[in-house]
Amino acid sequence: MLENLTDRLSRVVKTMRGQARLTEANTAEMLREIRLALLEADVALPVVKSLLEQIKFKALGEEVIGSLSPGQALVGVVQRELAQVMAGDSNQSGELNLATQPPAVILMAGLQGAGKTTSVGKLAKWLQEKKKKKVLTVSCDVYRPAAIEQLETVTKQVGAEFFSSNVNQKPNDIATAALDWARRHYFDVVIVDTAGRLGIDEALMQEIKTLHANLNPIETLFVVDAMLGQDAVNTAKAFHEALPLTGVILTKLDGDSRGGAALSVRQVTGVPLKFIGVAEKMEGLEAFDAERMANRILG
Ligand code: GDP
Repeated sequence: MLENLTDRLSRVVKTMRGQARLTEANTAEMLREIRLALLEADVALPVVKSLLEQIKFKALGEEVIGSLSPGQALVGVVQRELAQVMAGDSNQSGELNLATQPPAVILMAGLQGAGKTTSVGKLAKWLQEKKKKKVLTVSCDVYRPAAIEQLETVTKQVGAEFFSSNVNQKPNDIATAALDWARRHYFDVVIVDTAGRLGIDEALMQEIKTLHANLNPIETLFVVDAMLGQDAVNTAKAFHEALPLTGVILTKLDGDSRGGAALSVRQVTGVPLKFIGVAEKMEGLEAFDAERMANRILG
């Protein structure tokens, strides 16, 4: 578990070799290095601070004292703590809640470019293949005709059904019509794609709130780009305040980001991380794994 640590943390472990126990002094030095390692992984500063408090508390407890290699033991404490924060109390990784009178509505939220439309396609594929569900997709992005076309393309690619919409319609009317269609044609799930802007936009937030109230989705998924790094926190906060989010999909983890956004978003919203995006293609969806993510953040 400890073989892929960053140089920084490997140094910490080495420095601690031969020291019989953790003292306030050597722990403080190590915690400084761990702080830097977390910041380098793009974990947001307030999140780093609160984590370090918890880690310090645990490190100075029994878990480390008496260990032959205090450095390694401390890094172990850090890894466990990160994994625990990201896993949360209820482990909903790789699952969607569909326990409702069909059609179950899934509402996608997030900034433009986060990977919403791509994730709709991936989820539709997953729902069909793994859960044997009949899936309808619909786009309420009336600002970008290309977004509607893109959803149609990915939907057809995975063999799900696409509900047509156009830029002259109102998002709420589209959603209502799609839901009605889904009911009458016995769809199990409707995935509703929404518009996003490059930054937080009041008008769009209001629009998605109205959509949420109208659709009463069982899942409201916040899609966020792992490459956003520190900025992921502010975006997550804004969406979390506007909507009762039920899950997070962290995309573009095939890039070289260390994944600190996973930790920040989970800590700030308390919403479970459900899936990760690991490729542009429709197969590129995986269940979120807290332990692997903790290793990635530290390593
Ligand atoms: P939207 O504006 O939120 O709907 O975002 P899109 O679904 O259009 O995605 C924006 C870009 O990111 C597209 O070029 C996607 O192919 C790409 N993308 C989405 N998810 C992933 C992912 O997990 N990995 C990679 N490498 N690219 C992704």
